[in-house]
Amino acid sequence: MKFSDLKLLPSLLKALQDKKYTEPTSIQEKAIPPILAFEDVLGSAQTGTGKTAAFALPIIQHLENEQNRQSGKRKIRALVVTPTRELAIQIQENFVAYSKYNNVKSTVIYGGVKQGAQTDALNRGVDVLVATPGRLLDLMNQGYISLGDIGYFVLDEADRMLDMGFIHDIRKILEKLPKKRQSLFFSATMPQNILKLSRQILMNPKKVAVNPVSSTADTIQQYLYYTNKNQKNDLLLHLLKDENINQVLVFSRTKHGADRIVRNLRKKKINAAAIHGDKSQNQRQKALKSFKKLEVRVLVATDIAARGIDIDKLRFVLNYDIPNESETCVHRIGRCGRAGEEGISISISEPEENTYVRDIEKLIDQKIKVIDTHPYPQTDKPMNNQQKKEFEKEKQRRKKEFFANRNKKKGFQNRGRGRK
Ligand code: AMP
Repeated sequence: MKFSDLKLLPSLLKALQDKKYTEPTSIQEKAIPPILAFEDVLGSAQTGTGKTAAFALPIIQHLENEQNRQSGKRKIRALVVTPTRELAIQIQENFVAYSKYNNVKSTVIYGGVKQGAQTDALNRGVDVLVATPGRLLDLMNQGYISLGDIGYFVLDEADRMLDMGFIHDIRKILEKLPKKRQSLFFSATMPQNILKLSRQILMNPKKVAVNPVSSTADTIQQYLYYTNKNQKNDLLLHLLKDENINQVLVFSRTKHGADRIVRNLRKKKINAAAIHGDKSQNQRQKALKSFKKLEVRVLVATDIAARGIDIDKLRFVLNYDIPNESETCVHRIGRCGRAGEEGISISISEPEENTYVRDIEKLIDQKIKVIDTHPYPQTDKPMNNQQKKEFEKEKQRRKKEFFANRNKKKGFQNRGRGRK
């Protein structure tokens, strides 16, 4: 199928040509016709499938067609709510690129930065608003935003939205939306609570699904390295000796873990940066930009921070740890090999994570190829229950000791200050 078969405006086809998209992806083929026909859509699509264009293109077309009936300052007619700042920024960038030859203006708002530039843009008037839930409610409460003219509403990454605890915010936003509207609902997974939420938002939706989350794209080759916990860093350095790996997204379960990986890589003069919830928005944007420009070779991210990363042709993803939720791993792997590109996913498993590997293999119904010709093979055994208990006890004891020492030091410093 060609984009021109989808009854899109010539201006949109031209913008797609500029983006060098040759043909629609599966979700675009399935979702664009019903959205153009003003139907509600329940889309089950994993990141990297091209779902942003699947909703952005028909929305721009609707807005463009309504243009003549508009007069005065632009009113927000389309609202896209998405869980993370990175996703919000990327979605709006897509709107800008696709509406290049149309008279449709968009802006993006998200938390963690001063609101001035965002409220200025809103005051100038926009047709499309892309927002994260917290900042949206905040600016609504301050009177900068009215949702009274919304004709098109998109809830993106609904499953992640609920994972991140945004359900109450979403309910508050829904209350303010006009009843008469077109709604589009996208989620990578469709468990019961998501379906229930979708029923509160959509009317007789057309269901479209591509690549259920229990599958990873065919174009991604997956490799597994078994090793010991204390040798993961050495193994990572060993893998990075391969100069073909010039841009790799490394996943870490924790923020501290991410920082530690970056410190260890920098010690070996490997350019690395971390993005996670403790980093400011500016730091995150800067790291992402340098990574895209290949100035930073290794970007280490936690799952939530990485959720919004969209890098054309990212070839390598490395799981420094194996998540205990198999679906998280499938999301991680989805970061490479985007929109039909080839990708390579490397997972490193320590003994405690071996069982998670088996869960993932069950979910994707595929055995991951094990590479055992490396210098740091797994020799330790997973702990038994008794060892696990002792390990946890020791961890707690060390934590207590750490905080006690820190408080002692702090008290000492404060006393010192007090005397001066
Ligand atoms: P998304 O799933 O919306 O995050 O899109 C994933 C990536 O695929 C983005 O980098 C898009 O720019 C790209 N993309 C979207 N549609 C197409 C297409 N039809 N052909 C090639 N690339 C595309």
